[in-house]
Amino acid sequence: MAGEPQADCLFCKIVAGDVPATVVRETETTVAFRDINPQAPTHVLVIPRAHYPDAGTLAAAQPAVAADILREAAQVAADEKVDTTGFRVVFNTGSGAGQTVFHAHAHVLGGRGLNWPPG
Ligand code: AMP
Ligand code: ZN
Repeated sequence: MAGEPQADCLFCKIVAGDVPATVVRETETTVAFRDINPQAPTHVLVIPRAHYPDAGTLAAAQPAVAADILREAAQVAADEKVDTTGFRVVFNTGSGAGQTVFHAHAHVLGGRGLNWPPG
């Protein structure tokens, strides 16, 4: 069923506590944890507890939770003090865009110069 945990999903395992992660924030609907391979001084992933393969399918099924992800991304940036210097929220969607984990997640990146357009 849509949104249900998937046995073979790494981020569902992090939500369940079966795979360790450095969690920085949690809400009823979301978990935020540090990326294991950080691309910036601040690199935090914000994910829904529910399993959807990408941000678009999450937003279509549970728009309130998609909004929770954005609110939490901003709160992570504030907690990490990169809100004043600027930060980027990225949803890689599809393997051609670099998505490797097919459980919706926002990358929150900050603490260094961020070129535009991104690579
Ligand atoms: P994406 O490539 O957009 O699908 O992002 C997946 C992200 O998950 C990558 O930046 C990985 O470094 C990160 N990642 C993979 N495994 C873990 C893990 N066990 N804990 C934290 N982050 C992870
Ligand atoms: Zn999942």
